[in-house]
Amino acid sequence: MKIHEYQAKEILRRYGVATPRGLPCFSIDEAVEAAKKLGGPVWVVKAQIHAGGRGKGGGVKLARSVDEVRARAAEILGMRLVTHQTGPEGRIVKRLLIEEGADIKKELYVGMVVDRVTQRVCLMASSEGGMDIEEVAAKTPEKIHKVFIDPETGLKDAEADDIAHKIGIPRESVSRGRAVLQGLYKAFWECDASLAEINPLILTGDGSVLALDAKMNFDDNALFRHPEIVEMRDLDEEDPLEIEASKYDLSYISLDGNIGCLVNGAGLAMATMDTIKLFGGEPANFLDVGGGATTEKVTEAFKIMLKNPRIKAILVNIFGGIMRCDVIAEGVVAAAKQVHLGVPLVVRMKGTNEDIGKRILAESGLSIISADNMAEAAQKVVAAAGGRA
Ligand code: ADP
Ligand code: MG
Repeated sequence: MKIHEYQAKEILRRYGVATPRGLPCFSIDEAVEAAKKLGGPVWVVKAQIHAGGRGKGGGVKLARSVDEVRARAAEILGMRLVTHQTGPEGRIVKRLLIEEGADIKKELYVGMVVDRVTQRVCLMASSEGGMDIEEVAAKTPEKIHKVFIDPETGLKDAEADDIAHKIGIPRESVSRGRAVLQGLYKAFWECDASLAEINPLILTGDGSVLALDAKMNFDDNALFRHPEIVEMRDLDEEDPLEIEASKYDLSYISLDGNIGCLVNGAGLAMATMDTIKLFGGEPANFLDVGGGATTEKVTEAFKIMLKNPRIKAILVNIFGGIMRCDVIAEGVVAAAKQVHLGVPLVVRMKGTNEDIGKRILAESGLSIISADNMAEAAQKVVAAAGGRA
């Protein structure tokens, strides 16, 4: 689960990470009130969407008077903000953060993720903050410093100070840097985060170390332990089809292509998408109906896929193990009855009750293109969707 910058900053402040003062707003009037409450002379009006790159996309603007705050808020609120993380369709801005303008001397980077190899939280830090950290990692990897944190001890003072020194935090500010790094780690750990990032972390003219931006993602499997984080969920920022799918416990991810995929098992679903791409097609979604899906669940999965206006063809790829082929076949037939199946359907079924499944499909009267193996299925669905993308 993702949250907004202002919410991540609320959490981080509780763990002793310093940030500029700021207030979230939902309207222009609220933005003006917030600016008055915070006091001047400089404010920053920041679009709150679940994507980075807002600055470059025109979603972060400076204001030097309350009237300017009003004008900038009017521009940003309701705009369709396109960044490298939103995709070309962008996001409509519905919330703002009004923040005091900071006196930036230097922009740094710190981030944390779980490293699967060492099974530890990895702290990454760099003196090159503010811009695309991916570019720094690609071109000058030596400028990214890492610590794999021992869960028994947490981030030690010496480790934090060493990183602070390496990213150019001056001696007189090192204790403030340590507070940020250790606070970030504690927040990450206690909130069951999967990612926490401050880009930029800044040094100010008076030696403060402030989180100017903040991003936190959380492990969905641990959310039951954090009702206060679940409350921060903003459904406006999530894909409606993914929300719908989560209600039925389906693993569904929207993608940009035009071939719908309904598969059982995450590994087979990945392999199916790869095979479609190998034959020149583009998957419209990842969809794993799981091992124990019922006819109802398969029906819902079908309905969700068909709500995507880009869909040109559908591939159902089932390996019947725990999931029986006849259950999938019944789901396909039930779904086709409930929704208008306006696109070609390719089905490949193997395994448990394959014959019964195939008979159910054959007797349903639906026009189904059947295939016996994955390569054939992928080629047929790519052709049915209109050829190579
Ligand atoms: P994004 O990463 O989505 O572009 P940021 O919050 O990092 O958004 O803001 C982009 C840039 O805007 C920052 O790198 C910084 O230069 C500037 N900025 C953001 N907040 C402030 C602030 N409170 N005061 C001064 N400058 C800011
Ligand atoms: Mg940023």
